Amino acid sequence: MSLMKILTVPDPLLKRKCAPVEKIDDDLRKTLDDMLETMYAAPGVGLAAPQVGILKRMVVIDVTREGEERHPYRMINPRITGESDTIVLHEEGCLSVPEQYAEVERFESVTVEYTDENGKKQTLTADGLLAICIQHELEHLDGHLFIDHLSKVKRDMIVRRVEKEQRRKREASHHGKEEE
Ligand SMILES: [Zn+2]
Repeated sequence: MSLMKILTVPDPLLKRKCAPVEKIDDDLRKTLDDMLETMYAAPGVGLAAPQVGILKRMVVIDVTREGEERHPYRMINPRITGESDTIVLHEEGCLSVPEQYAEVERFESVTVEYTDENGKKQTLTADGLLAICIQHELEHLDGHLFIDHLSKVKRDMIVRRVEKEQRRKREASHHGKEEE
């Protein structure tokens, strides 16, 4: 398994609509495993394919806490087919918007249909953090991020902060190399 590079805003690949997965084979399963490994290492609770530059409709999710037995989901071509009447407000972050958090309105529970890594159709009704994570990750497949729920002023401010921090990190690592 290998770690993948996670794209951060304002990378244009994060704004693209992803294409359906047409074939589930060993290569695809390996990619999903790499995505999970990358997500655990980050650490995060969800990762969508476009966040690692793959414009395909698939996500990985695991909302278990550290110390608990892992329960990863690999969702291929996922689709939300049911939503609760109730809305919850939850503070979210995103590996593509590092260290920035904001409250977003989400459905309290959702039903999602997807194909698993073995090609089997699955239906899952989720609530709590899992429901929020599913809604967050699936938005990525249509080129939307949680910050798109915020006002333009707030969103632009967050993107500028991330850009600045990424630039600082790049410069710091360049500097480190020069000194070696
Ligand atoms: Zn995200």
